[in-house]
Amino acid sequence: MARVVSLILLCVCFSAFAESTRLSLSDYFTETWNTRSGLPHNSINSVAQTKDGYIWIATWEGLARFNGREFKLFTRTEIPGLPDSGLRSLIAMDNGDLYIVGARGGIAVRSQGQWRSLPSSSTMINHALISEQGEIWLALEGQGIVYRASEKATEHTLVDKLSAYRLIKDKQNVIWAATSDGLYKIEGKKVSKVGQEAGLPDASAFTLLLTQSGTLIVGTEKGAWQKQHDKFVSVDATLNHESISSLLEDTQGDIWFGTINKGVFRLRQSGLENLDADDGLPNNRILSLLQDREKSIWVGTNAGLFRLREAPFTNWSQSRGLASDYVRTVLSHSDGSLWVGSSNGLNRIINGEITTLNQAYERDPLSVLSLTEDKNGDVWLGTYTGGLMKVVNNKIYPVKNRTNGLLNNEVRAVLFDSSHNLWIGTASGLTKLTDDGQIHSYTTEEGLAGNFIMALSEDNQGQLWVGTGVGVSIFDPALNTFSNIEFPEKFSTEYAFGFYLDGEKMWLATDRGLIRYDLKTDVMHLFGREQGLPVDKLFQVIEQGDSLWLTSNRGVIQLNKTQLTEFLDNPTGAESVVVSMQLYDEGDGMLSAQANGGSNPAAVTHSDGQLWVATAKGVAIVKPERLKEASKRRLSTVIESFEVDGKPVALPAKSDVLSLPAGISRVSFNYAGLSFIMPQRLNYQTHLSGYNEEWVDRGRLAITEYTNLPPGEYTFKVRAGYPNSEWQNNEQTLRFRIAPYFWQKTSFKLVLILGLFLIAYAIYKYRLYHYKRIEIELTEKVEQQMHDLKNQADAFAHLANHDQLTQLPNRRAFDSWLFENFSQFQHNKQSLSVAIMDIDHFKLINDNFSHLIGDQVICEIARLLRINFPDEGYAARWGGEEFTLLFPHKGADEAARLCEIIRLEIADYNFSELAKELSVTVSFGVADNANVTDYDRLLSHADTALYHAKNNGRNKVVIYNKEILIL
Ligand code: GH3
Ligand code: MG
Ligand code: MG
Repeated sequence: MARVVSLILLCVCFSAFAESTRLSLSDYFTETWNTRSGLPHNSINSVAQTKDGYIWIATWEGLARFNGREFKLFTRTEIPGLPDSGLRSLIAMDNGDLYIVGARGGIAVRSQGQWRSLPSSSTMINHALISEQGEIWLALEGQGIVYRASEKATEHTLVDKLSAYRLIKDKQNVIWAATSDGLYKIEGKKVSKVGQEAGLPDASAFTLLLTQSGTLIVGTEKGAWQKQHDKFVSVDATLNHESISSLLEDTQGDIWFGTINKGVFRLRQSGLENLDADDGLPNNRILSLLQDREKSIWVGTNAGLFRLREAPFTNWSQSRGLASDYVRTVLSHSDGSLWVGSSNGLNRIINGEITTLNQAYERDPLSVLSLTEDKNGDVWLGTYTGGLMKVVNNKIYPVKNRTNGLLNNEVRAVLFDSSHNLWIGTASGLTKLTDDGQIHSYTTEEGLAGNFIMALSEDNQGQLWVGTGVGVSIFDPALNTFSNIEFPEKFSTEYAFGFYLDGEKMWLATDRGLIRYDLKTDVMHLFGREQGLPVDKLFQVIEQGDSLWLTSNRGVIQLNKTQLTEFLDNPTGAESVVVSMQLYDEGDGMLSAQANGGSNPAAVTHSDGQLWVATAKGVAIVKPERLKEASKRRLSTVIESFEVDGKPVALPAKSDVLSLPAGISRVSFNYAGLSFIMPQRLNYQTHLSGYNEEWVDRGRLAITEYTNLPPGEYTFKVRAGYPNSEWQNNEQTLRFRIAPYFWQKTSFKLVLILGLFLIAYAIYKYRLYHYKRIEIELTEKVEQQMHDLKNQADAFAHLANHDQLTQLPNRRAFDSWLFENFSQFQHNKQSLSVAIMDIDHFKLINDNFSHLIGDQVICEIARLLRINFPDEGYAARWGGEEFTLLFPHKGADEAARLCEIIRLEIADYNFSELAKELSVTVSFGVADNANVTDYDRLLSHADTALYHAKNNGRNKVVIYNKEILIL
């Protein structure tokens, strides 16, 4: 089952090493930058680090800003108002501002990322002093020192007619000036020269330093002088003949001196050290010095910028005296010396001194492949072409080669076993040289896995382990036989480059990783690429401290041994075991990360705790204790540029929110962690609140892009960190806002929503109105129908009680009235009369004038009756051409009189309008309720009276029983 394990690749931060591990000047890891690396000019007039962490470099061709990866140039285009690009000094202020001064009196300041120019001075400014209150003192070339009370105030000359180079203010607020006329002192406006009477030489002063303890040091044409009370004394007599051009005090309290033609000096308690062009400085003319926050020393020369840094690894290489840079083998000698075998000879190093060992007989060049020490402390060496050799009295003598017993002159491993036999591994087999001088050879014929021998080791049982080009063989001296190790197939291991005996275990550096072989059980475990190793091929495994150290083509790997053992002991539950692992390479000070192998020993642990590793460029040396002293240094992050749709946008001030237009599709951020020691190893995390609310790993990518961000407000944050160390609170923030299109605006959306709401409301209202109208219409219709029904009912009621032709009440109405009222009249003894009116000879009218005319006559008679009938009476059409009349409260006589009026009206009425010669008369029969008991009788009496009227000539009114005709 494949084992998965989380491995931590740690990078270590190195700084602030204790004095005990302080490097000598020559052991620093050095780097050089010049115009080929992107600097505008090779004269590094001034170097400064601003509060944000950037390193700034002033040259004759402008200013460069270094972020650890590249230089960004600032010339007159970027710094408006600067009269010339030539710069002399940089002054980094505590508040983060950076002043630059230079040619043509130019002076400018960068504050909060913005450049501002100040009024120029009359001539080149060599240096400036700016007080917290904004007062400015300028050191001018040839024109002394001038003072400005503020940025724009008029200049006052304090000293004239000399060249001033450097200004400094001490703790008593006294200003000191280094000038072509020596040291000057400015107290308020009072200027005085401090010269030979104070112990200073008669010489120009170039530079000044105020130490942490407050001591003033003056760098002059004739050495460096420090102030003690009122006198100046030489800092170091050796320097008295040097021109000191720059001064620096480092965090250890050591003083660094830049000179005009001798490079750099460092003064420590232990003495003065020199570093010059022979040690790698680009040039011996030093113009500036700086120690950065990571404690590296920057040296500005007039041939480029140089940096010394305390890397964990130091190196011995050809430039320090090695016979060759291509080192094949190293030997830690019991006398405390270290022996280095390289492709061109043998060196011995002890106490920092290196000696080269020469061959006793001048022969072919010596290429050393292997080294070992015998019980007497003598060193034996295996060579590429000369066989086995030995060092006697510091001379190298040949011992064995093909002519006197060796199988091959190429000797890659030599080993003395516990029985003092010398084993010689050659390219063609193994040879044993016994103590008494006998020689035995072994090849594949004797059972060796292969004849190309690269490694030899003896285990705790006295067995010899032989690493060959095709496998590992174990020689049992008791049986005088070889057995070959069968690596488990899944390891896919073929050969071993190195062995390390560790008690009951043998560690094998193989072509597929590290193998642990249990000598008791013969069980093997592999720790290879699948388990997290960054490389397959390992050359040597050694132990130091709590770690196993592996060498490889890509550098030195440190593995925590306890964790590794736990991991290998627990093959099933290994998921939970974390094996910390660190890979060291050029970034850590190795001149070459390519360690060499196939020759032995290729790496050793020395008695002083240092590891020595043979590499393609010298021996790389590390003292693991130095690694442990690594401290967490402060790391700054900067946002370098911000691009919107591919176009750079000026960075806003920290608290400002940058407004971006609507419709942008891409924003990108360039940032940097300002580490100058391992910029290439920094990791980044970004965070865009408003988009996602967590930190996103960006690895080593120093750019982040976002596309198609919706409108809104965002805060971009970026932070830099050393790999696998805690993130520091060093994030940088950029706030920006992307404007919405009008349709993306909330107000627009609100208006839209409101509009939609209004439309919905209008529809609703319309529907409501519509339904109301329908309701009204329905109600109206219902009402109309009700009304119509009522009318109909009324009509029906009317119809039931009225005669259709004349609209007079009909017989039914008359009868019911009489029936309802008759008895009351009788009871009250009130008079009630009834008359029946009948049209005379109506049949004739029908016959003579048509039935239609007859109807019209009936109507006309009814109308005349209605007109002439008294209001209180009651008239009805009785049927046909007969009418009945009621006269309440009237007796028959009175009723007859009223009937007579009607009779006359009708008789006199002109009916010619209906028909020519038509005349109509009517007859009446009248009766009253006197002497009648029921209403039928009353009608019958009236009818009787009518009968009489008809029979008596018609057109008459006759009262019942009276037989009196009223005319
Ligand atoms: P008199 O009463 O004078 O004795 O003679 P008369 O001709 O009026 O009497 P009679 O009772 O014999 O005839 C009545 C006629 O009236 C009979 C009928 O044809 C006619 N008549 C009844 N009702 C109507 C009607 O509504 N319209 C028309 N045109 N004729 C009607
Ligand atoms: Mg009649
Ligand atoms: Mg009639």
